[in-house]
Amino acid sequence: VTAASALVLIIEDDSQTRRFLRASLGGYGWRTAEAEAGKPGLAAAQNLNPDLIILDLGLPDLDGVAVVRSLRRQGECPILILSARDQERDKIEALDAGADDYLAKPFGTGELDARLRALLRRTARRAGGDLFTFGIIQVDIARRRVLRSGEEVRLTPTEFRLLALLVRNAGLVVTHRHLLREVWGPEHVHDSHYLRIYMGQLRHKLEEDPARPRFLLTEVGVGYRLLAGPE
Ligand code: CA
Repeated sequence: VTAASALVLIIEDDSQTRRFLRASLGGYGWRTAEAEAGKPGLAAAQNLNPDLIILDLGLPDLDGVAVVRSLRRQGECPILILSARDQERDKIEALDAGADDYLAKPFGTGELDARLRALLRRTARRAGGDLFTFGIIQVDIARRRVLRSGEEVRLTPTEFRLLALLVRNAGLVVTHRHLLREVWGPEHVHDSHYLRIYMGQLRHKLEEDPARPRFLLTEVGVGYRLLAGPE
């Protein structure tokens, strides 16, 4: 699936935002469908089988986080949530409930397009392709190898698991809770200091200037994002 053929379902109650999304996504070659509330959105997700879903968190009929949970019960379709500034907690809850990434309003159309592409790329990566490159770093997930300018970098098993999880979600935010649960286990979901330590180690080994990371980015209060390389 490419942007030219992918169908994006927009679930958003504000008609102006819907119009803006429809026009800008159309300009980037995406096909769109729209629902103006949670319930019709869930029905449309089931009937239209979209490739991606854009979900506004503030809907008139259903709680946005509840919509994420219902969508997840229906299937695996990637969900990008749109959040307002006063929805920080909802945003993190929605991500932990299974949403794949977020954009805070207001956002630029170029950024929206890039996020949607990152979501599609991840779906494609799950189907195959185990090599991932960012900057001078090459990661081979299947062989558990990391190269820096062609030289092997030694990572501890924990460092590798953390990096692999970010690679699998390249371009997308991964929440603290998700990283801690997947890498250290469910009993450690509150041990955020592990992440600070291990992200520091990864940056030291993989970033040219660990103090100013270009790829292993912090999303303050939410989690981390590995910047997706150019296509
Ligand atoms: Ca709204």
